[in-house]
Amino acid sequence: MNDLRETIRDHGTWSEDQAVTRLLHSLELTGGARHRAVAAAMSLVEGARARRDERPFLDAFLQEFGLSNQEGIALMCIAEALLRIPDDATADRLIAEKLATGDWSAHSGQSESLFVNASTWGLMLTGGILELDPAIKTDATTWMRKLTRKAGEPLVRLAVRRAMRIIGGEFVVGRSIEEALARSAREAEVALCSFDMLGEGARTLQDAERYLKSYQHAIAVIGAAAAGREPHEASSISIKLSALEPRYTLLQHERVMRRLVPQTLDLARQAADLNIQLTIDAEEADRLDLSLDIIEAVAKDSATRDWPGLGLAVQAYGKRALDVIDWVAATARQNGRRMSVRLVKGAYWDSEIKRSQERGLPVYPVYTRKVATDVSYLACAGRLFNHADAIYSQFATHNAHSIAAVLELAPAKANFEFQRLHGMGRLLYAEAARKVANFPRVRVYAPVGEHKDLLAYLVRRLLENGANTSFVNRFMDEQVPVAEIVRDPISELERLESFAHPRLPLPAALYAERRNSRGMDLGDPRELQTLREELSVRSAVTAGPIVNGVLLPGNAHPTSNPAAVSSAPCSMPKAPRSPTPSSHLKTQTPKSNAS
Ligand SMILES: Cc1cc2nc3c(=O)[nH]c(=O)nc-3n(C[C@H](O)[C@H](O)[C@H](O)COP(=O)(O)OP(=O)(O)OC[C@H]3O[C@@H](n4cnc5c(N)ncnc54)[C@H](O)[C@@H]3O)c2cc1C
Repeated sequence: MNDLRETIRDHGTWSEDQAVTRLLHSLELTGGARHRAVAAAMSLVEGARARRDERPFLDAFLQEFGLSNQEGIALMCIAEALLRIPDDATADRLIAEKLATGDWSAHSGQSESLFVNASTWGLMLTGGILELDPAIKTDATTWMRKLTRKAGEPLVRLAVRRAMRIIGGEFVVGRSIEEALARSAREAEVALCSFDMLGEGARTLQDAERYLKSYQHAIAVIGAAAAGREPHEASSISIKLSALEPRYTLLQHERVMRRLVPQTLDLARQAADLNIQLTIDAEEADRLDLSLDIIEAVAKDSATRDWPGLGLAVQAYGKRALDVIDWVAATARQNGRRMSVRLVKGAYWDSEIKRSQERGLPVYPVYTRKVATDVSYLACAGRLFNHADAIYSQFATHNAHSIAAVLELAPAKANFEFQRLHGMGRLLYAEAARKVANFPRVRVYAPVGEHKDLLAYLVRRLLENGANTSFVNRFMDEQVPVAEIVRDPISELERLESFAHPRLPLPAALYAERRNSRGMDLGDPRELQTLREELSVRSAVTAGPIVNGVLLPGNAHPTSNPAAVSSAPCSMPKAPRSPTPSSHLKTQTPKSNAS
């Protein structure tokens, strides 16, 4: 097992060329299956386009306001900022600035969705707040400005906040788990869910305590509603480890293992008692190693061995994904249990790239070409089916080709499921269920919570929907031919001259004029170990003023390390007493030069 963990770490340092070459050698999809997957995916897109009237509001909204136009970016900025700006005056200034920069009239009438048009006119300033004037159809920009002047910024703020709440509400299935379950019982579309109690990145112990309680409560309520069904057939829970521990970083390994392992174990035991599934979401790449330590500790628990509900998400955009899947299978087998893996592509791509650049790391932890992530998804899917004795597979994607390719890869009678996010992918999966006989079950990842906890989740969804590389952003756009949206990613990848993205230099080579400063990968235990060893052999130094290259003599006295007062890393001469600035200068002058 340790060997597999070492392999995961080794492969994290691989160049993109090495990682992609390995991917291409790991694929299980043959030529014929590749053609069939493309044809099936095209037919799914065509079918979904033919039913565009049934398209949910959010799909239409995000297609009109993507990240590719100024107004879309303005809306995303407002959405992101409004949720966390505490004071009204700043919120007003932000809204005024963002609304003034857009050419809103360019969108009027562009979408056939009435709701989207309403939002274009006045960011959903409808009904009670404002009567829509037919004249605005011709000049929405002027109308927007007039409105801000006439109605006053506080009113616009109120309306914009309301609009953002509506957008947020599209992604959230209920404000409480009780409300979410009631909806799940009512609406067939959300009958099978993995509930996500909104909240992540706890900043304080109070936050963490609150999130822990909400997980415990949710498990109890979901378990009661599951009413004895098998874990894979009942609704389940997804948890984020970052919600449970404010210091969830490898630097705090000892503390994290002491606090987080017992908490995660308790949650797993509670879920096992009620026989519902518990999935640990995948977060940032520098937390992967630490998360595997925790999952390994939970998987060793003999009290829950017979429960097949322990699961984790694996991110295909990570260069280590295949190795992580092998490790999960080995862990499950060694502990005599079955586990589940939710295969995702990964939601933190932009921040992984940015963080690696800031830290000046030797390589990126993720692929830099979208098509490499798509191929990795297929390689991982094949690997998961190979481990079917130990792993129950869950494929979370909204991409028609990924769905079709998974169906091609699945062995006959394989037991697995697809997953989609609430508010996304509905049309596509409905089409798949219509076209494919015995289409597997589809579970909906269903966020639950209050508006104030939605921010991080909402921003990830807006980025995902708005990115022009994203499948959901383009697949309903009639302007883009289906053949352009659905392509065989393997051929595309094989055709590339360089696997690394030419416009994304390695973090060290970020600047043309100088080398980027070399940082440390604080998520790699081997790098941390080296750092600790270097610190432990560092001998105490003597410090003091150096003038003209000469260390001035003086009465050295030890100084203490403020972070560990018992250690004295350095000796410093006592500062000379200097009654006047000129005498101070004198004491700094070396004797040889003194007058
Ligand atoms: C049920 C469910 C659960 C989820 N749980 C998690 C989770 O626990 N952790 C998590 O991180 N995400 C999670 N996600 C989010 C998921 O990662 C994104 O929804 C997913 O990446 C979108 O992939 P797609 O196949 O739907 O779309 P596609 O449009 O085919 O793929 C988009 C993805 O490609 C990748 N990508 C984009 N540009 C590049 C590039 N230049 N180079 C390399 N890769 C690129 C990114 O991963 C991006 O998200 C979950 C999603 C679902 C549906």
